[in-house]
Amino acid sequence: MMNLKSDRMNTTAYAPSRRLFLSYVAGLPVCAMASQLESSQRPPSFSSDPFSLGVASGDPDHQSVVLWTKLAPSPLEPGGGMPPANVPVQWELAKDESMQATVASGTVTATPQLGHSVHVEVEGLESDRWYWYRFRCGEAESQVGRTRTMPHADVLPDELRFAFASCQNFEQGYFTAYEQMARDEPDLVFHLGDYIYEYASGRNGDVRTHQGGELSSLDDYRIRYSQYRTDPSLRQMHARCPWLLTWDDHEFDNNCAGEISEEADVDPVQYLVRRANAYQAYYEMMPLRSRCQPRDADMRLYRSAAFGRLADFSILDTRQYRSDQPNGDRRSPLNDAALDNRQTMLGRKQRGWLFRNLNRSQATWNVLAQQVMMGMVDRKGDPTAPEYSMDQWPGYTAERMRIMEFLQQRRVSNPVVLTGDIHSNWVNELRHDDRKEDDQLIATEFVTTSISSGGNGRAVPAGLEQLLAANQCVKYHNAERGYVFCRLTPAEWRARYMIVDDVLQPGGKTTKQAEFVIESGDPHVHPA
Ligand code: FE
Ligand code: CA
Repeated sequence: MMNLKSDRMNTTAYAPSRRLFLSYVAGLPVCAMASQLESSQRPPSFSSDPFSLGVASGDPDHQSVVLWTKLAPSPLEPGGGMPPANVPVQWELAKDESMQATVASGTVTATPQLGHSVHVEVEGLESDRWYWYRFRCGEAESQVGRTRTMPHADVLPDELRFAFASCQNFEQGYFTAYEQMARDEPDLVFHLGDYIYEYASGRNGDVRTHQGGELSSLDDYRIRYSQYRTDPSLRQMHARCPWLLTWDDHEFDNNCAGEISEEADVDPVQYLVRRANAYQAYYEMMPLRSRCQPRDADMRLYRSAAFGRLADFSILDTRQYRSDQPNGDRRSPLNDAALDNRQTMLGRKQRGWLFRNLNRSQATWNVLAQQVMMGMVDRKGDPTAPEYSMDQWPGYTAERMRIMEFLQQRRVSNPVVLTGDIHSNWVNELRHDDRKEDDQLIATEFVTTSISSGGNGRAVPAGLEQLLAANQCVKYHNAERGYVFCRLTPAEWRARYMIVDDVLQPGGKTTKQAEFVIESGDPHVHPA
């Protein structure tokens, strides 16, 4: 591992902080802690429910899926109220909701090093079917969760139903949107980041209050995730179907770019230590495969998924490997700094992986599930002095254009980009250069609004008409709260923009605000 690392250090400009970070990590008393563990394989008895964080599943393929839970009888205390000992946890998976027809079961060890999280990768399952699962620890039994496998790679399924969401600030609203999402009965959920916010309590709103200060230690991040999971709508949606998640910035720190902080005066070594804590807590809390486990301050989260031959998903990480935002993170014209071809969102390795993935794909729909808006949208809506977001793809225009060229030249079938991050809904038609109406259409972008971030928004954002007039690539824009529900067939893709009428109190109503269709073979978007 150290050898791999030093290879990379030789090629990065941040070698000194990397080296210091690794020597810092090497000095931590991890082994000493491990040797103090009781190796007792008898589960403790709990005075409150150790399954308070619920159950989840994720990252399915045609024959396996990850089952997840995390023991925490006192979820908002350091250590989750667990003793510093290994604890055995039983799991079982069945073909029926009443858990009679069990097809697989086993025992795994929940360790304090991984916050008593449990990630079981069940293999050898039938393709394209629903399963039910639960966990047991001592006398305690979890709720029953539902999950499913993907269709086999050779099969062209009739239909895929999935939802995608992002941005759930706990202080700014309730996660009520997930109640309607559960009623929509999706096969899968994609979460595109800002699952938590790292801010100190009271920074953002008054609906609910974050526990603690701005996140830094491993315990800080662990407790914040636990607090978010106290929201019953979120917890129940995790139990309904498998999720495929990726992070954006707030899982670590606002506007983070690779190893570079938004603020100028941050110690780079401490920043990597903080990132290691953030990434570990993320891994512990999410239904991810063990190959995603963090190594030091790195975690490989980009990965692919396939729903038979109907849809291929490239799940991207546009934060960990990106170069710094140009123009001081501010909205700017597309000047030399924004157009510099050294600017990268993906990094060379991830970009190569993405291109290989797209090249190989036999799928009808090729989906980039990612974080920040790709549409080159003039946010000021002023053709005489346009301004673009430098934290989004316009700050990395050269790489964005390389992706568009690749999609076009390799004739990638039906490219669709899914996006979160900006707390508003958008539908964009993507070209090599979105400023040029004569450029050929290449892809379609659906941007989902936030689950709760920003509190109740507005159906008609200020300056909407001006914005639409200045950006012919934008086909829809709305700034209320909600998520997007998609129904794909071999012939068409339907995207329903679902809106919650009130996130400031429980019980909000979620209804369809708009619906768009694209037909296979044509990236033009039509209102349904
Ligand atoms: Fe956000
Ligand atoms: Ca964000």
